[in-house]
Amino acid sequence: MTDAEPVDDFRDFGVTAFTTRRAAGSFNTATEEPANIVMERWNSLRDQLLTLAPRFATARQVHGDSIVAHTGEWSGWLRTTAADGHFAPLRGTAMAVTVADCVPVFLAHPSGASAILHAGWRGTVAHILGRGVEMFRSRGFAAEDLRAHLGPAICGLCYEVSPDVYGLLTGKDTEVPARVDLRELLTSQASKLGVGRISSSLLCTRCDNDRFFSHRRGDDGRQLGVIVA
Ligand SMILES: [Zn+2]
Repeated sequence: MTDAEPVDDFRDFGVTAFTTRRAAGSFNTATEEPANIVMERWNSLRDQLLTLAPRFATARQVHGDSIVAHTGEWSGWLRTTAADGHFAPLRGTAMAVTVADCVPVFLAHPSGASAILHAGWRGTVAHILGRGVEMFRSRGFAAEDLRAHLGPAICGLCYEVSPDVYGLLTGKDTEVPARVDLRELLTSQASKLGVGRISSSLLCTRCDNDRFFSHRRGDDGRQLGVIVA
């Protein structure tokens, strides 16, 4: 498998999840790196994932709150239109989001129903996590049975935002740029939504820049959060 940081919490659900490391190379398609090199990485990962599941879903991401539900009527690699999350109620779909400081949010149910979300500050303000949990709920998967994992992302010491963004995220005022911890905010959202078990990676894309790409650190590269059930 591609060099990656695994998510251990879903193993007993039979759900594989990971975030690729810098050593696996960049998956950024909007880059000056030659397309043949970037696409070769995608193709290699696709081939590995298609040995685990018949479907592989990705999307063009737009920092929104739209989540695509995959119901298993296709096979191969799908790159759909604008979306920042994927949900599959049944096993058999691998799903990925690209990140480089934003949080890869993994969600899994014991049945194998799973989801992956891309949550930066915009997605966090837009409550993409709430939309994701609702997609499980609407199909009869209770929030208390879900596990959530927040993967490698920029940490609360490294992430400074404008007063406007700080206000949107925290509901508090500040006159000057201030630091926020996106994973802390998402953990609090997940807890309020009643998610049964929530874990968070301690790895920071910026502090641990030798292992991950960081947009704030000036990297053009992107890693992938991937979930397969
Ligand atoms: Zn950090």
